[in-house]
Amino acid sequence: MILTIGIIIIGGLNMNKTTLELLNEFAQCIDKDILVFHGDDTECSIERKHIYISKAPYILDYLIDYLLIDMGYDFTPYCSSYVFGLIHELGHIVNGWIDKDGYSLNVLALKESDYSVYNKQYKYLRLSDEIHSNEWAYEFIKKNKKILKRLERELRASDGKF
Ligand SMILES: [Zn+2]
Repeated sequence: MILTIGIIIIGGLNMNKTTLELLNEFAQCIDKDILVFHGDDTECSIERKHIYISKAPYILDYLIDYLLIDMGYDFTPYCSSYVFGLIHELGHIVNGWIDKDGYSLNVLALKESDYSVYNKQYKYLRLSDEIHSNEWAYEFIKKNKKILKRLERELRASDGKF
């Protein structure tokens, strides 16, 4: 999907927007019904089309390793881990559920397992919903590099307020 509409690509940098307004504008170029909120974790509700973005860095080292080594993705030249988190959640909403029952069962099993944090994360990232969402995110990033560069600039210029 190539992002060709929206306020982000029209006119000069808008310095008066809050970070949350920018994230909402960006997400609503993909689907106008999406709402972005601040959250403790970066996650989404596919049914409600709500995305929660945490200020904490979304991508830990092992996620970058996983994407790079196992899937051959390297988003770091194109966007921050923070913006990658948003695009990953957008991927969930655009794709819809791939395997809702499998997802719920596996997440429950992982929570109750004795795996290390690394192994839990690793297995989580291999769930089909996560794989598809990361694939969507990476395709989106490759096709929209200029827009993402602009979004990153606008986010840096925004007030950081949620
Ligand atoms: Zn996910």
